Amino acid sequence: MLQTIPAPKIDAFLPPRRILMGPGPSDVHPQVLAAQARPTVGHLDPLFIGMMDELKQLLQYAFQTQNDMTLAVSAPGSAGMETCFVNLLEPGDTVIVCRNGVFGERMRQNVERCGATAITVDNAWGEPVDPAAVEAALKANPQAKYLAFVHAETSTGALSDAKTLCALAQQYDCLSIVDVVTSLGGVELRVDDWGIDAIYSGSQKCLSCVPGLSPVSFSPKAVERIKARTRPVQSWFLDQSLVMSYWSGGAKRSYHHTAPVNALYALHESLRLLAGEGLEQSWQRHKQMHELLKQGLTTLGLEFVVAEPYRLPQLNSVYIPQGVDDAAVRKQLLAQYNLEIGAGLGELAGKAWRIGLMGYAARRENIALCIKALEDVLA
Ligand code: PLP
Repeated sequence: MLQTIPAPKIDAFLPPRRILMGPGPSDVHPQVLAAQARPTVGHLDPLFIGMMDELKQLLQYAFQTQNDMTLAVSAPGSAGMETCFVNLLEPGDTVIVCRNGVFGERMRQNVERCGATAITVDNAWGEPVDPAAVEAALKANPQAKYLAFVHAETSTGALSDAKTLCALAQQYDCLSIVDVVTSLGGVELRVDDWGIDAIYSGSQKCLSCVPGLSPVSFSPKAVERIKARTRPVQSWFLDQSLVMSYWSGGAKRSYHHTAPVNALYALHESLRLLAGEGLEQSWQRHKQMHELLKQGLTTLGLEFVVAEPYRLPQLNSVYIPQGVDDAAVRKQLLAQYNLEIGAGLGELAGKAWRIGLMGYAARRENIALCIKALEDVLA
């Protein structure tokens, strides 16, 4: 006899309003949350298609690019990363991969899974990627086709010089693949001026949007490379030649997968807010808020992991003082202040806290609360 599993009795999930000052997701702007709650329409509805055209323009503004292949992958930042690698790389290709934290290593794993060879250039955790070491690797490996690096390493809080690294890639006839998951909207980024060929980000950091979408963009050179592939992209879902018939088809858009309609409303709203504030103003606000946070953290005697010139304003890693219980402090901040700060990751696990100032979270009142709460908890 067939038995039906009894229905569980579960209450509605009503999360508290936390203040998200970790490595992401960051605080979502209330207007973005409201946008997401608007009525769902069909993803081929003419009104939705009009919104998608605007979304593309807004993404081109955020990235500072005229790349036609600019869109949001319907999945988180890691899928944006994978989109770049699986579309560009073919087995046997050589890629110079810079590692100075968790996400450079994730790039290396993507390269190997594509059947390509990764030549790694390592920098210590907390340091930026060293352009001289990258140039040496490019010189020593003339067969390399790509240079891949993370602009803003969220695991440490270090900012690398994307402009110089992309210029080196061009000089040595490589295409650049750049991770801007944490940098987009938070620090200067100019895709066309810097000659970036493939780039991916995430909705959940400095864009003040809900998690789950990954803006990407490919330069005309990268598109040519994709078109000239000798074998199909191994991932059907991430194959950009298929996705583009949805994103670039205008009124003739055709079905590829069911777009996450409401999440895309949220991204549209968050990018509209960014455009309203202005990119340069947003970069400036992140910097100003970082200076304010730095003052407070320094007064508390906390030391930064990253040297001043390479510090990300939106991700502040500080060493946990000797004798302080890392998990207990974070638990207390969450329970008493509804405040989330990030734990250390990888080599910095148990050694550092990561305090995010991303997008809507980068506000004076949050900084005041964070400093006061840390002061109380550490007393
Ligand atoms: N790259 C960087 C620099 C990140 O910070 C993250 C996430 O924190 C990712 C990639 C992966 O993004 P997601 O967690 O959205 O898959």
